[in-house]
Amino acid sequence: MKAKTRVIHPHKFPVPEGNRPLLTPIYHSVKYTFDEADDFERCISGTRQGYTYTRVSNPNVAELCALLASLQGRETALLAANGVSALCACLLGLAKTGDHITMFIQSYKPSRFLVQKLLGRFGIRSTLVSIHDHEQIQTILQRERSAVMLFESPTNPTLQIADIEKLIALAREQNTVVALDNTFAGFHNHGQFEVDIFIHSLSKYATGHGDCMGGAIIGNGHIMQKLETEFHFTGTTLDPVTAVQMLRSLKTYFLRYDAQCHGAHRIAEFLESESLVSSVIYPGLPSHPQHELAKRQMRDFGTMISIELADGVNRSRFIDALSLFNLAGSLGSVESVLIPSEPAYAGDLNQQEREISGITPQTVRLSIGIEDPDDLIDDLASALTRAT
Ligand SMILES: *Cc1c(COP(=O)(O)O)cnc(C)c1O
Repeated sequence: MKAKTRVIHPHKFPVPEGNRPLLTPIYHSVKYTFDEADDFERCISGTRQGYTYTRVSNPNVAELCALLASLQGRETALLAANGVSALCACLLGLAKTGDHITMFIQSYKPSRFLVQKLLGRFGIRSTLVSIHDHEQIQTILQRERSAVMLFESPTNPTLQIADIEKLIALAREQNTVVALDNTFAGFHNHGQFEVDIFIHSLSKYATGHGDCMGGAIIGNGHIMQKLETEFHFTGTTLDPVTAVQMLRSLKTYFLRYDAQCHGAHRIAEFLESESLVSSVIYPGLPSHPQHELAKRQMRDFGTMISIELADGVNRSRFIDALSLFNLAGSLGSVESVLIPSEPAYAGDLNQQEREISGITPQTVRLSIGIEDPDDLIDDLASALTRAT
């Protein structure tokens, strides 16, 4: 063979039989071949197992799918390039022109954009209501016979807790599919509820180090089969190299999550005692309006805190005075970050909706990392004093 051919078909060094790597190697190959053409045909027709093309299936992605599904207590998962693409593929699969989606004022701003603006352009209708107004939710579900109800708990960014059992009961009356964006609670929470579909941004707790993006759709049975058929045509497949990074990060998921929760609880207690903070929203504090509900629904109270700076505290000066907390929009990573909620998450909400969501110009959302909580408390205390 000439060099131009050899460079395309280099000699391979497969691992011998009876000898194997402890971790799954990265299968970055886009395509898979077969020793015999008949096997290819059997694979395509589904009468033998195998891989053909990475947009449709890949061993690394399959390993991550199985792990995430089991953590969430469900059978299967579909993995997307990021959380928003998972939401988009899921809603495209569940709703069609003329259908209605019930969603909530207390939700992630890009989710509102996706449903109201993007899906709205294709004739999918939607209504935004307060997640606590069960009477209005029932009225809307009945009147619109909603195809999907999409919600979060705790909500982003103001950490309100949805009564999951109640919402599911209301949706069941109308055969509405229940989709829970469980990003804030994590994979180990809420699996006990009859949620049809869980959505997660893997860019948060799964990576945990803020260095790769992904999204997951997790559920059971025929609803997942239906979604899977169309999912491959949305082209939002997770890359195998990213799947391996996620698998590596997930080994420390519980260690990180526990440490972050522990730190968040201590920091929330400190902030509550601080006169320059007028209110602290953390589901683990008895002062949280849905603390008892959070205790019943969740195994822990999460790593996020929402605070309301006292009137005399200048928001920008406070943020600029911090040295350990950086201003950044994401969450769930090992480093602590914070973001002012109003400019980041309330641009599309009117005054009444802002009141319902609890976002004011003085609201700041904190994501607690795994630094020593004492250092984080010192950082917050000194920045608050310097911002008055
Ligand atoms: C971040 C986030 C998403 C979107 O995830 P990306 O990976 O950033 O696309 C969706 N829902 C919630 C609640 C989030 O916090």
